[in-house]
Amino acid sequence: MGAERARITARIILESLIVGVAFMSSLPRTLGELRRSIFSEERLRTRRVKDELRENLTARLRAGGDAPVFPGIVGYDDTVVPQIINAILSRHNFILLGLRGQAKSRILRALTTLLDPHMPYLSGCEVHDNPYAPICRRCREELARLSEDSPIAYLAPDERYVEKLATPDVTIADLIGDIDPIKAARGGHELSSELTVHYGLLPRANRGIFAINELPDLAGKIQVGLFNIMQEGDVQIKGYPIRLPLDVALVFSANPEDYTARGKIITPLKDRMGSEIRTHYPATVEEGIAITAQEAWTHRNGHPLHLPNYVQEVIERVAFAAREDKKIDKRSGVSQRLPISAMENVVSNAERRAIRNDEKVVVPRISDVYAALPAITGKLELEYEGEMKGADFVGRELIRAAIAKTYDEYYTGSNVQQIVQWFDLGGEIQLSDSVPAVEALEKLKGIQGLVDKLGPLGVSQKENPEQQVSAAEFILEGLHAHKRIGRSEERVFRAGEKKPEAAREKSFEPDERPYRQRRQFN
Ligand SMILES: [Zn+2]
Repeated sequence: MGAERARITARIILESLIVGVAFMSSLPRTLGELRRSIFSEERLRTRRVKDELRENLTARLRAGGDAPVFPGIVGYDDTVVPQIINAILSRHNFILLGLRGQAKSRILRALTTLLDPHMPYLSGCEVHDNPYAPICRRCREELARLSEDSPIAYLAPDERYVEKLATPDVTIADLIGDIDPIKAARGGHELSSELTVHYGLLPRANRGIFAINELPDLAGKIQVGLFNIMQEGDVQIKGYPIRLPLDVALVFSANPEDYTARGKIITPLKDRMGSEIRTHYPATVEEGIAITAQEAWTHRNGHPLHLPNYVQEVIERVAFAAREDKKIDKRSGVSQRLPISAMENVVSNAERRAIRNDEKVVVPRISDVYAALPAITGKLELEYEGEMKGADFVGRELIRAAIAKTYDEYYTGSNVQQIVQWFDLGGEIQLSDSVPAVEALEKLKGIQGLVDKLGPLGVSQKENPEQQVSAAEFILEGLHAHKRIGRSEERVFRAGEKKPEAAREKSFEPDERPYRQRRQFN
């Protein structure tokens, strides 16, 4: 059966390759052929890239039904996506405003799916000139010489997307171009001739999409150059006026804080952006989980993975808790890359345990979430108070809060008194994140009532030991997060802190007072 399926798959791949090659080789190769094809002068001469985006989007909307307009963009169906659609239908340049890790770059890249599969241009042209209306002098001269025999080449959608991360050291030369003295000397051209221009990123994006990320970081002078190109098609390079009536869909991204700060973006440029669209973090834990599941690398070769829902929820809630925590800088935000990287580390820690203990299936546990701290702490920009406590401490606190909330989803109203009592009567159990499942399960079964309580997690005693241990450990971690039982650094679960200890804890308060006073002077 497997071999048969492989044979069919191979045949399908081969056939689609043949069709693709046949189509490519049937594409017109000269201007004369182009004129008589679907790429007629009537259709292409005045069709700008924003017309093309609009046309293809309209077709997709019409055919769409329930299919997403931008596949792979999760959680924006009712907010960001309709606004982007409107911007494209309006033929706007637009800017996405949002904190980091809100899929801004991904959305901008997804715009290439609205470009034609093949775009004809005059072969050899650095700015991919429209065969019917070239803007560069080289092409106008070529056209006069070769006329209908002028060779035609094609660009795929990906080749028509140019992306630049704005930094303060980006120059006009990077973005728009430079006078090339060698070209000038070799060709004997006047220095101000277009033929001596070494084109920058923007002209190379002609007839495509040009994306500038973190626009406010671009120097004011460069923004003026950008504006002049958008507005007039004119720009000065080293004092020489150059005319470049480019056809580019300009899209930008920025952090809203930087964007609104006075003077960060020159007003005329702001004015030229038709739409300003705000992105956001996932609104619900479920959406967050869907994004993380899509982005995290969890399907690996080797052991099969069983990823419990409650582990996914805890990881996602760490990000949600971090976004609300006042110890973490609101302005830089908490990227969706936090749960994504954390998930990868969680799976790796579980994988490491499975390999070491020769287990058949990889089942992440809550202890693996703690082991994923290195994937969490680096993504938190701490405020003063957070800095004082340290990233590790803040990270652990977030995980604990996430566990408490997730535990409540499954166990609110459940009677777990029997388990707590077992610890109160002096029971202790050590559960390191490396202990083999069979061994751990033996110990966990000694706790009265624990393995009977796995039902709400969808785990029964018929399940393999790896799953049972993960679920039972989640209950213990939940009780610990709610301070009903204690747990040491060495992962020994034992009775919770007694009253006298709580009183002793109170005596720490005076220590904090000077710190609070200091805070006021900041
Ligand atoms: Zn050209």
